[in-house]
Amino acid sequence: MNEIAQRFDRLKKHIAALETHHSRPAGCVTLLAVSKKQSAGTVRSAFDAGVRLFGENYLQEARDKILQLHDLPIEWHFIGQLQSNKTRGVAEHFAWVHSVSSLKQTERLNDQRPDHLPPLNICLQVNLRPGDNRGGAEQCNLAAIADACVRLPRLRLRGLMSLPVLTDNPTQQRDAFHQLHQCYLALKAQGFPLDTLSAGTTHDYEAAIAEGSTMVRIGTALFGPR
Ligand SMILES: *Cc1c(COP(=O)(O)O)cnc(C)c1O
Repeated sequence: MNEIAQRFDRLKKHIAALETHHSRPAGCVTLLAVSKKQSAGTVRSAFDAGVRLFGENYLQEARDKILQLHDLPIEWHFIGQLQSNKTRGVAEHFAWVHSVSSLKQTERLNDQRPDHLPPLNICLQVNLRPGDNRGGAEQCNLAAIADACVRLPRLRLRGLMSLPVLTDNPTQQRDAFHQLHQCYLALKAQGFPLDTLSAGTTHDYEAAIAEGSTMVRIGTALFGPR
């Protein structure tokens, strides 16, 4: 087995053990392999090891890889910052976007999603800390954006996402993911049909799984340092 296959195997086992440990249903956490800055050849090795979901941050880089790997049934997720001039490329090349944070972005993605593709799966990015400038909608705006999303026919609202808090302290990591999970439950209670909580990276996926994550976005622990 090559190194990526070994790491993938270890990650799957660790995620399964964490599901059990934190009383989560078996298989409820999906692994999204974050392949930014990895070559198309490396993505292909990960595919050969059994990885099917890949996350990319930079449109140009991603588009090149997607073209080179079009022979593989990969599900591509856009997880990077979504500038307005990037929405078209994202709508044309990806199955999911995790970083939607405004009404305007929902409208553009809906208008630009090609008719021959299924609706684009959407996670709203939440800004959990006022003053954090890494993007995301404020909590008070989430319901309005979710509402717009469910009314747009070329989009399918799936859930919420947040970036990791910049801390090694497991309690602080869990506090942030707990807050995100509360937002998620509040929207579900309002009737939004959510099934995805995109939370946790190499750095903090254990805390995220403890607090309800259903999709961990893992780069370094699978591919090694970038
Ligand atoms: C790069 C990135 C990740 C993966 O980070 P690792 O620490 O390498 O696991 C996850 N989510 C987002 C939004 C990223 O940009």
